[in-house]
Amino acid sequence: MCLITNIQRYSIHDGDGIRTTVFFKGCPLRCVWCHNPEAQNRGRELLCSGEKCTGCGACAAVCPQKAVSIKNGTARTDRKLCTACGACAEVCVLNLREIAGREYTVKELTAELLKDQIFYEESGGGVTFSGGEVMAMDMDFILEAAKELKRQGIPLAIDTCGYVPYERFQRILPYTDVFLYDVKVMDEGLHKKYTGVDNRLILENLVRLSHDGARICVRIPTVKEVNGNERSMKEIIAFLQEHDIHPIQINLLPYHDTGSGKYRKLDTAYKGTDLHAPDKEEMEALTALFINAGFKNTKTGG
Ligand code: SF4
Ligand code: SF4
Repeated sequence: MCLITNIQRYSIHDGDGIRTTVFFKGCPLRCVWCHNPEAQNRGRELLCSGEKCTGCGACAAVCPQKAVSIKNGTARTDRKLCTACGACAEVCVLNLREIAGREYTVKELTAELLKDQIFYEESGGGVTFSGGEVMAMDMDFILEAAKELKRQGIPLAIDTCGYVPYERFQRILPYTDVFLYDVKVMDEGLHKKYTGVDNRLILENLVRLSHDGARICVRIPTVKEVNGNERSMKEIIAFLQEHDIHPIQINLLPYHDTGSGKYRKLDTAYKGTDLHAPDKEEMEALTALFINAGFKNTKTGG
């Protein structure tokens, strides 16, 4: 079994063609700009929005943990008591409550993914395993699912932060069409400050994966206050050149805060309020640095 927060159909930004993207739950990083905070923790979690709550009390009435109370006409949830059982989500007629994380068996997941086979074939697309961090999941599960997709002729992309033991990559490599590999920033201190971990393992794995013949798209979340400057991008270019890494594509992905509302639903603070994307001209100039350095297939955006 693996916990999955979402299976998103008709994705066009997670690899070639039309794709179905699977968001696995659990991640070893805590990127300040993360737009899927509901996929960070490993267990099931309750998301609740208080904005339109009428205070009807239906959720409080069914909660077996007595975790919900109505205060000032709005439902309040004591997260220390909540077990994410989902009973309240079933009775809220305004759908203000939902559980992030549903367990799937390999069979259930692959059956779901095979429903879109016709779209993959017609568009040159496939399946993308994302998250959270797919490479931090139960690898037996991920391998079995990947093998079944390969048997069915469906290309698989692995969207990864790279922060796992390399042996995991070795196991999945024969079944993976392309890795969408996040490179954030070369400066170790900045990396630790904005993601919670240092970047040594991530960069070592990128080198090994490349030398083992993987097809790699390097994806660079680009944040003005972190890496959205010439020096940071030149450091990434120098690293790729030094280690003879030739990604099939490089994408500079401008920061956005579309996930910030989900933090409120999890009762956690969004720490990215001071972050910004470089403007259009700045993004183009940063992208041009890669193109001029010989990485011709570099684009702004996904
Ligand atoms: S998810 Fe379950 S335990 Fe948590 S508040 Fe809702 S009903 Fe109560
Ligand atoms: S059931 Fe929905 S609308 Fe009613 S109190 Fe609970 S959260 Fe608010």
